[in-house]
Amino acid sequence: MNKKLHFFQSIHFKIALVFALLFLITFQIIGAYFVQQLKKDNLKTFKQQVELSSYVDNSLIDNLSKTDTKSANSNIRDILEDINNSNVTQVQVVDTKGTIRGDSDVNSQAWVGQKTTDEDIKQVLYNGRTYSKLTYDKTDDKRYYVSITPLFSSSGSTNTLVGAVYLRASLEQVYSSLSNVTVIFFSASLIATGLGLFLAILISRAITQPIDEMKKQTARIARGDYSGQVHVYGNDELGQLAQAVNNLSVRVEEAQESSEAERRRLDSVLSHMSDGVIATDRRGNVIIMNETASEALNIDAADADGQSILDILNIRGRYTLRDLLEKHDEIILDLSDEEHEQVLNAYFSLIQRESGFISGLVCVLHDVTEQKKIDRERRQFVSNVSHELRTPLTSMRSYIEALNDGAWKDPNVAPNFLKVTQDETDRMIRMINDLLSLSRMDSGTSKLDLELVNLNELYNYILDRFDMMLKTDNSSDNTEKVKKNYTIKRDFTRRELWVEIDTDKFMQVVDNIMNNAIKYSPDGGVVTCRLLETHNHVILSISDQGLGIPKKDVSHIFDRFFRVDKARSRAQGGTGLGLAISKEVIEMHGGKIWVDSIEGKGSTFYISLPYEEYEGDLWDEN
Ligand code: ADP
Repeated sequence: MNKKLHFFQSIHFKIALVFALLFLITFQIIGAYFVQQLKKDNLKTFKQQVELSSYVDNSLIDNLSKTDTKSANSNIRDILEDINNSNVTQVQVVDTKGTIRGDSDVNSQAWVGQKTTDEDIKQVLYNGRTYSKLTYDKTDDKRYYVSITPLFSSSGSTNTLVGAVYLRASLEQVYSSLSNVTVIFFSASLIATGLGLFLAILISRAITQPIDEMKKQTARIARGDYSGQVHVYGNDELGQLAQAVNNLSVRVEEAQESSEAERRRLDSVLSHMSDGVIATDRRGNVIIMNETASEALNIDAADADGQSILDILNIRGRYTLRDLLEKHDEIILDLSDEEHEQVLNAYFSLIQRESGFISGLVCVLHDVTEQKKIDRERRQFVSNVSHELRTPLTSMRSYIEALNDGAWKDPNVAPNFLKVTQDETDRMIRMINDLLSLSRMDSGTSKLDLELVNLNELYNYILDRFDMMLKTDNSSDNTEKVKKNYTIKRDFTRRELWVEIDTDKFMQVVDNIMNNAIKYSPDGGVVTCRLLETHNHVILSISDQGLGIPKKDVSHIFDRFFRVDKARSRAQGGTGLGLAISKEVIEMHGGKIWVDSIEGKGSTFYISLPYEEYEGDLWDEN
């Protein structure tokens, strides 16, 4: 853009050249005119100088009129000898007949008395008019002035031609002085032109330097460097221009700063937005894409630049750009694959100028994966609850129908039928209670009643109850679940661990896991209960030697209503909500619950709770 200026293209050079040419032309014209005028004047003066005085003329006329040729010729010679003019090289006197009557030249005395051969003289004698000319003599390389003047004797009113005077004078002096003047003039004009050129360079520098500075400053502004200032040399037009450039620089900087700040603001808004944003030009090619959009679509923002939005969203074929411009509904983009689920809602809006001209398109991508998942889970949950309630209700109805149909009278079946309906009712109540406590925890209305508890003691207390259950006679209870034999092994740390927990809820969790361990173990199995602490956690674990959990189900074990074997769980009175509740309770305590299981070998459930060592413990230990 900022092309290097060639010196010959610069104003600097052009001004200097114009000045120099102007000087030269001026001097040439003045010189030519002056020399010409000088030559004319010099010649005029010269002619006057060499002209014979009227006294000489009259004496010559007198002698030519005499009849005595001899004495007249001698007189004429004397007169001619008396002419004392260094410029005059030859004077010749000729009478009307063309006879040479006298000559000033010593070497030409032989010509006296002879007829002249000069045509010019003959011409003058013939027409009686003065004739003059400038001649160049090749033999001596000199210029001469030749003048032939007719001589008239006047008697009364008549003039009679008596002869003519031929005069030849050397012009060398005139020409040499003229050439001297020309040389002086030429050298003077050369010096003046040189000086003029020098002045022109100075002046053009004075003009071009500020222009040059301004040019550099504008180039700097274009590059985004506003630090410089143009030096203001004066208050003339250039000074004002320099001032204007300085003002411009400040304005541009301000404008640049504000647009930069605006851009940063926009950038930070875009990059902190939880929704993806893609902006395109009016052809639908991406110009802006924020981080969220690039993550959601798994495309590098730099790669997306300039690509069509149809390709970026992978909707070419389904929609055209016109569709996006005209229809303002949202589009659902399902980007789910086998590994993970992702559903985006894309909303489109137009970037329109005031004139109505569409200059681009903005697409906002809203991730609705979670929402869809929650919706699905909610639907699933409702269907699960209905299903879970329908099964016992259906079986109860058939028992009640049977009783109603007369079975109540049969003492062998009636108590059994009533027992089943009671069991089912109990299970439904349990389930409803479980659901209620889950719902309370979901809505946040269930609060923890925290107290500092010695976990070793609490754990022992819970396990003692399970030991007690073995010893009590439960033969009257004819359900399958409590008939099992088992051994509880305890492996506790010796340090007393004091933790802040909601005792009732925590006991419910451990009870539930213990019940499961027994429920899903073979008769006579060993349940190992451990308690240990790490740097800032306490960990409880309960291991059984039961069925274990298939690998594919491990991640769902804490889901609501999930059971590996629905029929078996139901037969044992399970609701499928126990572990879901346990997970909620432990998470409310800021802890974690997880399971390790090998199918067919057994499972280990872990509960970890945040733990802070109390100073009191140290004192107690000593
Ligand atoms: P349920 O009332 O059915 O026991 P839970 O939420 O307590 O409901 O347990 C969910 C499912 O997890 C059970 O149905 C069972 O399939 C499985 N499960 C729980 N604990 C164990 C365990 N110790 N061994 C094997 N499977 C277990």
